Amino acid sequence: MSPLAEQHEGKFDKMSESELELYRLRHSMAHVMATAVMELYPGTKLGFGPPVDNGFYYDFQFEEPISVEDLPAIEKKMRSIINQKQAFEHSELSIEDARKMMVEMDQDYKIELIDELRDLRKLDTVSLYRNGKFVDICEGPHVEMTSNLPATAFKLDSVAGAYWRGDEKNTMLTRIYAFAFKTKQELKQYIVQREEALKRDHRKLGQELDIFHICDEVGKGLPLWLPNGTVLRDELEKLARDYEFKYGYQRISTPDIGKDVLYKTSGHLAHYEDSMFPAMRLPDDEDSAFYLKPMNCPHHNMVYKARPRSYKDLPLRFAEHGHVYRYERSGELAGLLRVRGMTMNDAHIYCTEEQLKDEFKAVMQLHLDYYELLGMTEYYMRLSISDKAGMGSKYHDNPEVWAKAEKACIEAMDELGLPYEIAPGEAAFYGPKVDVQIRNVIGREETASTNQVDFVLPERFDMTYVGADGNLHRPVILHRAPLGTHERFIAFLIEHYGGAFPTWMAPVQVRLIPVSADQMEYAEKIRKELFDRFVRVEIDDSTESFNKKIRNGAVAKIPILLVLGGREAEEGKVTIRRYKIKQQQQMLVDEFVTMLMEEIRTRKHVKPE
Ligand code: ZN
Repeated sequence: MSPLAEQHEGKFDKMSESELELYRLRHSMAHVMATAVMELYPGTKLGFGPPVDNGFYYDFQFEEPISVEDLPAIEKKMRSIINQKQAFEHSELSIEDARKMMVEMDQDYKIELIDELRDLRKLDTVSLYRNGKFVDICEGPHVEMTSNLPATAFKLDSVAGAYWRGDEKNTMLTRIYAFAFKTKQELKQYIVQREEALKRDHRKLGQELDIFHICDEVGKGLPLWLPNGTVLRDELEKLARDYEFKYGYQRISTPDIGKDVLYKTSGHLAHYEDSMFPAMRLPDDEDSAFYLKPMNCPHHNMVYKARPRSYKDLPLRFAEHGHVYRYERSGELAGLLRVRGMTMNDAHIYCTEEQLKDEFKAVMQLHLDYYELLGMTEYYMRLSISDKAGMGSKYHDNPEVWAKAEKACIEAMDELGLPYEIAPGEAAFYGPKVDVQIRNVIGREETASTNQVDFVLPERFDMTYVGADGNLHRPVILHRAPLGTHERFIAFLIEHYGGAFPTWMAPVQVRLIPVSADQMEYAEKIRKELFDRFVRVEIDDSTESFNKKIRNGAVAKIPILLVLGGREAEEGKVTIRRYKIKQQQQMLVDEFVTMLMEEIRTRKHVKPE
């Protein structure tokens, strides 16, 4: 029901016939819901009601607040409207007649909208759709009759507050969300999928599995990592250290704060100050202000500049899991996804123009290595490049360098055989970039990481190297963070694995379950053997029944439970029960230790069935 034509322009061209059919269905369904609401609650004022990904919603201003308990009655009314075979009739009215009609109907928000269409968009006429007694300003499209709508393939789901036009200065309306599909089967399937998604929600699992905690005393958006969460962070950092070592990076460490002069040089204070924590001042240095670092690049650039550099030193690859702080508005904070303090898998590569392609390629290959290891298959890449129109305004003005860099990026992507789309005009001011979009098991898509070429910072920081010709040259910088921030990446991994992490990163890797007190000594011996090899191992010495202990192990999603009964103790064996794998295995302790150490070393994932 979006009446603003510009939102529609071109939108339907891109839709397949099937998508368009679903759009029409959901859009019509939103009108039917509004029809039902107006019959049940006369005097309600109407906001907007568009179709969305999984159904539709409509915003209302009720005279008395409603709740989810009222939804079944609205659903019932909707079914009866569907059965009434009301036709959706299209008409065009002059803007003044449409306004009169909405004044008579006492629909304040629709009047506001008409005024806007008249005054700002200079429209003379408005498109309306009517079904039964209900009429709405609307561009369509709709199904022909309400009876074309599947009465069993929709469900009103929830009620939430929503500001008129999303602006918190406006009145809070009541939004009713609904799911709608073409068939009952599709609706059912969607509801099952969504339940699975809710079960995997990182906020829910983060609490259940003792991964992180957020409290008011420390501050919004500043997660505390509990011991289990810190294991995940440590393992990811170890992973990055190993891979970056192989790829020729050097590790550096830089402070969490820096002086204003640094951020003046980098341009952060000019362009990014709103997203930074405010300045700190020290009594013994009143002329300077200190800032928590919003990015690691300025510090890394100073590491580059700490020594004179020669072409023989390049490429230099400086890596740090750096802490950065950004002032996100409190309304935007959500679990681990929007935070104010984060740790980034950051590195900056300083190279010559000639080295750019190989370096870019190596960074993309590193991404692929991680994805393969972590079993991430749902991703695509977008290469953002410049356009002529923006050169010098939107983009750093050096067409020659741009052309070379873009050529290098495209060749790098092609040589690796990576699927990507090119987005002209989407590059950052300082150079072309590749964004990796990942989709997790629950279908949510996010930018996982960026590989960004930068020709601007080397100039701002006056960074140089002595070339083979004896002259000074500018290096190019690559900013990259394949594992993103711990906060986002761990949120992703929690949902990706549903909290059942592979052995190498699991907070508890092995839990020993002695069948009776007689096997305690045996359990203690195995515990020590594993502990001495740095395995995160524990014994369940609780007084619970054996079956309960097995269940508890599954609830904690521990990858390996070792059952130790009388037989096992006698024969020096263990019985291995893996998380959600039916087949149990029995082997000698030594064999198990060898297998386990190899599994951890190679970061192998034995997938649940
Ligand atoms: Zn950077």
